[in-house]
Amino acid sequence: MSGKLYLVGLGPGDAAHLTPAAAAAIADSGQLVGYRFYIEQVAGDVSDQVIHAMELGQELERAALAVDIAYAGHTVSVVSSGDAGIYGMAGPVFRVLTDRGWDGIAPAVETVPGVSALQSAAALLGSPLMQDFCAISLSDLLTPWEQIVRRLQAAAAGDFVAALYNPRSRRRIRHLDEARRIFLEHRPASTPVGIVRHAYRPEQAVTIADLGGLDDPALGVDMFTTVVIGNTNTYVHQGRMVTPRGYEAKQ
Ligand code: SAH
Repeated sequence: MSGKLYLVGLGPGDAAHLTPAAAAAIADSGQLVGYRFYIEQVAGDVSDQVIHAMELGQELERAALAVDIAYAGHTVSVVSSGDAGIYGMAGPVFRVLTDRGWDGIAPAVETVPGVSALQSAAALLGSPLMQDFCAISLSDLLTPWEQIVRRLQAAAAGDFVAALYNPRSRRRIRHLDEARRIFLEHRPASTPVGIVRHAYRPEQAVTIADLGGLDDPALGVDMFTTVVIGNTNTYVHQGRMVTPRGYEAKQ
């Protein structure tokens, strides 16, 4: 009998934002691949399942392990925070499947969408993503920095609202300042910027700052944060970040 591999997005970090389909996929799986702490935090009791814990940087290795498990006839869930298809495990898993010459049928592969960080951040901020927007990861672990700069420039010039993933780590402290500088070439310093740290987790913090002040270390931007840069129409009303639905006059 051929196995099954689920690619599961767990949502931002609390059980309430885990979809019923994601919970069902996890319950259907004898084995789980992902960060143990995170799985237990959102999915509740998984003591019946074998958990293959993951360290940062082990993505391809863990993807290969999951594919092996599925080819051996078992059912396995590979879990990511947010959505597995957005800077998550879907890429490494499909990469491994491609390398193995997967026939598209066995093992069965099913992706279960999850609430991504940009959606959680937007919900907590107001309605920042109401016009065209994009997501840009500032991590240059897998993408050359020059490529990221080109995308930042294009997003800034195109007046896209931009959701920045992986905005700053201990090693990567300059990238957000560089992103700020690029956006300031196209937008006023007063442009609202939403900063959401640990959305829907106990440590949650939501701040609205502006582009000019985005370099303030007191904002606490780190790898658990999503930064949403408004476009030239975005404004703040009663502590909410609002991008109007169309390019009408500002309030
Ligand atoms: N697959 C995930 C993204 C993984 S990349 C998703 O779809 O959301 C990791 C980055 O996601 C973090 O550096 C941060 O920018 C963002 N992120 C993930 N969970 C978050 C949360 N609960 N609150 C704020 N940002 C989050």
